[in-house]
Amino acid sequence: MIYLDHAATTPVPKAVADEMYRVLTEEYGNPSSQYAYGREARRLVDVCRGKIADALDCEPGRLFFTACGTESDNWAFTAALWQNRRVGKHIVTTAVEHSAILERCRWLEQDGYEVTFLTPDRDGNIPAREVLEAVRPDTALVSVMLVNNETGNVYPVTEIAAGLRAKNEKTLLHTDAVQGFLKVPFSARTLGADFISLSAHKIGGPKGIGALYIGERVRSPRPLLPGGGQESGFRAGTEATAQIVGFAKATELRMEGLSEKLRHMAEIKAYAMERLAEIPDLRLIAKGTAPHVLSVSMPGYPSQNVVNDLSDTGICISAGSACHQGKPSQVTAALGLEKKVAAGVVRLSFGPETTREEIDAAAAALKKHHDTRFPML
Ligand code: PLP
Repeated sequence: MIYLDHAATTPVPKAVADEMYRVLTEEYGNPSSQYAYGREARRLVDVCRGKIADALDCEPGRLFFTACGTESDNWAFTAALWQNRRVGKHIVTTAVEHSAILERCRWLEQDGYEVTFLTPDRDGNIPAREVLEAVRPDTALVSVMLVNNETGNVYPVTEIAAGLRAKNEKTLLHTDAVQGFLKVPFSARTLGADFISLSAHKIGGPKGIGALYIGERVRSPRPLLPGGGQESGFRAGTEATAQIVGFAKATELRMEGLSEKLRHMAEIKAYAMERLAEIPDLRLIAKGTAPHVLSVSMPGYPSQNVVNDLSDTGICISAGSACHQGKPSQVTAALGLEKKVAAGVVRLSFGPETTREEIDAAAAALKKHHDTRFPML
């Protein structure tokens, strides 16, 4: 199998799985238990929190474990809107966020919030100036992702943070960094966001574990799950120790030679662009600079057919974001593409282990699809 869908999820290295197995079978104590075996589990959770906080460059006490990136995104909204409940009911976000944000915004609209959805230009960019212009005195929250999962566009979060402080001190800033963590360089200390969402399974960790960074401007975050007091009382539920250990181990492994890994992914992406350019009429979608995501379109060749055809030859790519499950992608729609270009968008995404040979195989399969199938639109 050739796996070119690392933005959907990533393979778990054996060292991560081994660590998780050891914790499941040998260190399965409940971190809340008083005896030594429980205290050891608590120590393990704290060590892991420290490792991930180091990679994010923040105090460990500012990082809270959640069940996934989706949960982190939703908690950031809950906490921000609670703190700013007297500021107003206006939210600024983009039309190209992950559905975790877009769906929450749709709910909020039904609850009387007004949401401004900013659309990107043809290259997929949204300048900080546009975000700041949309901010009003009653804007409670701005939520702009760090890296787009379909195009790889990197958004100017630092610039937005600085502008926001000057324009409306109280407005809180959330960034969904699920596709940015260990893919583009940033530090929680200098980014300026009040909330940062992470997810383990995009960096070689297990599914079912994420984290939310909560900055110091958030006074007392509204608990996401009240209960037994875990995660400083903000997100109760017995800690998923094995998942947490898997998240920390994956972070540690990614951090080893990280710049080399990022350079490799960027080279792979450049090579893929070169090889795919051999396909007649192929279009590059947007101009994302993140090293791991590449979106292209074979106009007129419906993406579901392309994905299925490649799947038959053992190659995994995706039709836009895997989270849409057949529905047209909001990102493709927001880019204002011509209908037949939009219908043909596929995403290839890479990891540190992706090889040029894998790209050659994918390029050949795409070319074959182009040459042997009739365009349908
Ligand atoms: N945000 C972005 C940008 C993503 O790409 C994803 C997953 O695809 C998520 C959030 C959701 O993360 P999780 O699958 O951990 O809920």
